[in-house]
Amino acid sequence: MRAVVFHSPGLENLRLEDLPKPRPGPGEVLVRVKYVGVNPIDYAVVSGSYKASPMPHIPGCEFAGVVEEVGPGVSGPAPGTPVAVYNRLFCGACRQCLTGWTQLCEAGGIIGVATQGGMAEYAVVPSRNAEPVKADLRDAATLPIGALTAYNMALCASIAPGERVAVVGATGNVGTYAVQFAKIFGGEVYAVTRRKDAAAAMLRQLGAEVVTPDEARGLAPFDVVLDPTGAANWGLSMSLLGRGGRYVTAGALTGAEVSLDLRRVFGQQISVIGSTGGRRADFKTVVRLHEAGRIRAVIHAVYPLADAAKALAGLSSPARVGKILLEV
Ligand SMILES: [Zn+2]
Repeated sequence: MRAVVFHSPGLENLRLEDLPKPRPGPGEVLVRVKYVGVNPIDYAVVSGSYKASPMPHIPGCEFAGVVEEVGPGVSGPAPGTPVAVYNRLFCGACRQCLTGWTQLCEAGGIIGVATQGGMAEYAVVPSRNAEPVKADLRDAATLPIGALTAYNMALCASIAPGERVAVVGATGNVGTYAVQFAKIFGGEVYAVTRRKDAAAAMLRQLGAEVVTPDEARGLAPFDVVLDPTGAANWGLSMSLLGRGGRYVTAGALTGAEVSLDLRRVFGQQISVIGSTGGRRADFKTVVRLHEAGRIRAVIHAVYPLADAAKALAGLSSPARVGKILLEV
């Protein structure tokens, strides 16, 4: 099969190679990959800041395709079923799994980081990670990270109906979904962006008021700030939060180190909340919400598999709106 592979870290080391087609073991399915979502985590894997295994490594943590073959003991999904792949490995038996927080599994890992990923014609995944989808597979490939990360951010923020929610980095692949889930959770949603182009019109279509950072400061305080982008927007996010406010982080593409005044945290009872991935059960919910037309994918560009390096570099493009995909 054709696969994107690196033998040592570095974007410049990505190669398209011909590898043996993998076979599913017990409890696993073989997925014929159709679309792969490109995410900051893939950049971290390829650049070596996340340790990938095994090596040489096939990146790709977010993908959708069709089940080609099932391993021993697998009752479903059956060959021919279109699926999107929940990307957290989970044991189902530890305390975190038993309380539903499968992305926090004590024996967990991420498909595409701790296993070979989806930037290939085929990928083997545990059958319980393969969620049947009715949607077109292009959209479905934006759900495992883009949509589920945003869903979990809204969940962790405990958004109450009518609360004012600011989404920082709203034009990104998590941000475009964060706007939509914050609406579904009942928030009055403000998308914070400097952009005035088609990106702003798209965010309005998703149900958000679109404001610049300065306008957002004028509208503060907000009850909730959702920020998937990281350190570059930390100061802005903190300036937007009011008393009892909740700040939720889910990524650090723009930097990871921030400073925090604890007097503000206790004095105004502010919560700084981490959110990673999402729960297996919530992935089912996200897929159903997409099928029902309650959320929609915003796709910026689709590249062929051979252009994986270009697609990864595109993550940092200021013109990006929503998701970059690879088509296999
Ligand atoms: Zn577990």
